[in-house]
Amino acid sequence: MKVLKFGGTSVGSSNNINNVINILETYSKSSKVACIVSAVGGITDKLLLAGNQAKNKDKSFVNTFNSVKDIHIDIIKELNTSQSDTILSYLDEKLNALKNLLDGIYLINELSPKTSDKLVSFGELLSSFIIAETMKNRGLSAERKNSQQLIVTNSNFTKAEVNYNLTYSNIQGYFKSANQQITILPGFISKSDTGEITTLGRGGSDFTAAIVAAALKVEQLEIWTDVSGMYTTNPKMVKQAYPIKNISYQEAMELSHFGAKVLYPPTVQPVLDLNIPIHIKNTNAPNDSGTIISNQNINNNTTVKGISNIGNIALLTLEGSGMIGIPGFSKRLFETLAQEKVNVILITQASSEHSICIGIDTNDAERAKTAVDKTFENEIALHKIDPIVVETGLSIIALVGDNMKNHQGISGKMFSSLGKNNINIRAIAQGASEKNISAVIAYKDVKKALNTLHEQFFEAKTKQLNVFITGVGNVGERLVEQIKQQKIFLKENLKINLRVIGLSNSRKMVFNEDGIDLNDWKNQLFNGEQATLSGFFQQVKDLNLRNSIFVDVTANSDVANLYANYLRESIGVVACNKIACSSDLDNYKLLKRLSLKYNAPFLFETNVGAGLPVIDTLNNLVASGDKITSIQAVLSGSLNFVFNNFNDNTKFHDVVKQAQEEGYTEPDPRIDLSGVDVARKILILARESGVEMNLEDISNESFLSEAGIKSDTVDDFFQSLITDEVHYQNLYASAKAKNCQLKYVAQFNNGKASVGLQEIPEGHPFYNLEGKDNIVMFYTQRYPEQPMIIKGAGAGADVTASGLFADIIRVGNN
Ligand code: ADP
Ligand code: ASP
Ligand code: MG
Repeated sequence: MKVLKFGGTSVGSSNNINNVINILETYSKSSKVACIVSAVGGITDKLLLAGNQAKNKDKSFVNTFNSVKDIHIDIIKELNTSQSDTILSYLDEKLNALKNLLDGIYLINELSPKTSDKLVSFGELLSSFIIAETMKNRGLSAERKNSQQLIVTNSNFTKAEVNYNLTYSNIQGYFKSANQQITILPGFISKSDTGEITTLGRGGSDFTAAIVAAALKVEQLEIWTDVSGMYTTNPKMVKQAYPIKNISYQEAMELSHFGAKVLYPPTVQPVLDLNIPIHIKNTNAPNDSGTIISNQNINNNTTVKGISNIGNIALLTLEGSGMIGIPGFSKRLFETLAQEKVNVILITQASSEHSICIGIDTNDAERAKTAVDKTFENEIALHKIDPIVVETGLSIIALVGDNMKNHQGISGKMFSSLGKNNINIRAIAQGASEKNISAVIAYKDVKKALNTLHEQFFEAKTKQLNVFITGVGNVGERLVEQIKQQKIFLKENLKINLRVIGLSNSRKMVFNEDGIDLNDWKNQLFNGEQATLSGFFQQVKDLNLRNSIFVDVTANSDVANLYANYLRESIGVVACNKIACSSDLDNYKLLKRLSLKYNAPFLFETNVGAGLPVIDTLNNLVASGDKITSIQAVLSGSLNFVFNNFNDNTKFHDVVKQAQEEGYTEPDPRIDLSGVDVARKILILARESGVEMNLEDISNESFLSEAGIKSDTVDDFFQSLITDEVHYQNLYASAKAKNCQLKYVAQFNNGKASVGLQEIPEGHPFYNLEGKDNIVMFYTQRYPEQPMIIKGAGAGADVTASGLFADIIRVGNN
């Protein structure tokens, strides 16, 4: 004899039912088969919905009823092109009874647990009948047997307890004399010893199957569902989850108790004593190997076997100094909860006994609070304890594994990785058996937490980085292209899985939680939604993905003003935008503090020298205990370009225009030519050296003509360059006469900084600086005479993009 169970989705459509029938037909060739079926997927929910609508005098219960009816009629018609009369007349009879029941509920305004069980029983009665009759119509040796005639329970409606002796003997008796090859049994439903319809609890068809398997002492119980086994975590929440090949009964129970819905928790009990393995299989992929739950072949090398979660949790806290050292508080608390039939999912108690915290289903919270407050009425009146505090909107996440007890550091890893991702933990429980470590967190964080923990314990080798880029102009576009090219390399060599989740320019933004296809990003962005900076931030925040990085490739101050918001959400910030780091000192310090506090990297290497490793080098010097005494630098690729191309054969205006057109200057070239851009850079280097200063503290003697300094618009500025050509030619002539080159130099000496145009003599390291190159010389305590020099291209889209990219990878390696 073989026992198989098919869940709601497995019998959720005519197509799926056909799959089930095929599987059963194959099995029945070599053995008799008992097949337990759930209601058609979603029907139990609909029946309960209709019942509640009727109870609340909401006439739309009729619509819900009609939808139940239509779903079944469609399935029957699709399954049985002819000969469906018997089924349709059975359906008619059952639907009439159902309609009468709902009318009754509507009339009396009441839905008791007893009536509720009667109501939901229609689901399994219909599905089992339809399947059995369809099989008969197709010439198979099949019968339906109503489980209510076999499974006997007490009268604990909606979650009745089984009378195993009676039930087992009923099942054994029935199958002894049953002649058909295939017996279809409705799952979930049963009958009390007083003859009333009962059910075994939501998801209880699994349990029915385990009871039948145990009664018949079969070799194995097969549970067929819509996923290929019990996964490392819920595959609907974590894409990388994978099926566990073998798992112990205890682990499976623990995972299912903590929310792995694929198995109804009580299912394990009947088969455990008889050592009957449970095989979980996928109806849609019958060849997948699935999961075996047993006490054999358990792989003892893996510590954490799975991660599960339960939503809709409320935390109840009983607290007060009057509890310390006085016995009996917990007893009274738990007695009260038991009387109210409140199921306690998690308990923690502070060691001072000052508070007890319990996790329960939110639906029970109000009832529990009222009852417990009543129990402790006197103590509350005497201010010995506080009224119960209820917090909702929570979830439990749990790590499960028999072998966790033999390994140190698992909870450390668990909580540090949650902490790094800004997931606040409200309560923790770890049983002495150490099969389970659970934590209560906000519901909104569950997906992130599961993904973070899954990565930590099951994919330890790759780290996913979720990148959000604002500004896809010249540099941003290069960055996206570089990411596209390097994706595979990063995954294979650095174990970094880099995904671009959000992209935005000033007009449009686009998001894809699975990663934007970078072969087609322009098109997707073009068709994206209207962009706003706050909207972008909100989406990044709401997506709530682990290892999120916001990349600012704009020069926009409004974007820079949002960094604090990102950091507060533990979202890393990578910026080539210099505004934040050169803004007011308080703001710069705030961002640094937030970065530390929220464990969110804030990196801006490209603020100085584009892709050159200037800031990183400086940070390393400082971190290793060196002290910066002086910095001499040429930091403007734009000004270098201008003064390298300007001579007595060219016109200053034309050279500046060319620099602007070729993208070597900011769109507004005054930012470069006024020296403000260089001043910002030396300010950032000074700050990173540990000196607190502001932009106003930097002396800046402009080389521009008076009209150039005063120009209000870019056009006026260009006009002034034409008018004042002589002024600029004089600068050149003076330098040339001394055999010098004009360089725009930034200096930092003994806590003071300045920027300005200088005549650099031959032999000086700045003299031969070409094109748009930058050079930085650090004089430090360790490099007092021969400075540490960093030199190379300091502007350009490609090098800036690669600097941003390097910062993103730095976050990944963090
Ligand atoms: P059935 O209707 O077949 O009884 P269920 O919906 O009750 O199916 O259970 C299967 C579902 O359980 C899966 O579709 C999945 O969403 C959910 N699930 C939660 N945790 C896990 C897990 N660890 N492994 C597999 N499935 C899980
Ligand atoms: N149909 C019932 C439910 O939805 C039982 C089951 O599917 O296991 O809870
Ligand atoms: Mg189920």
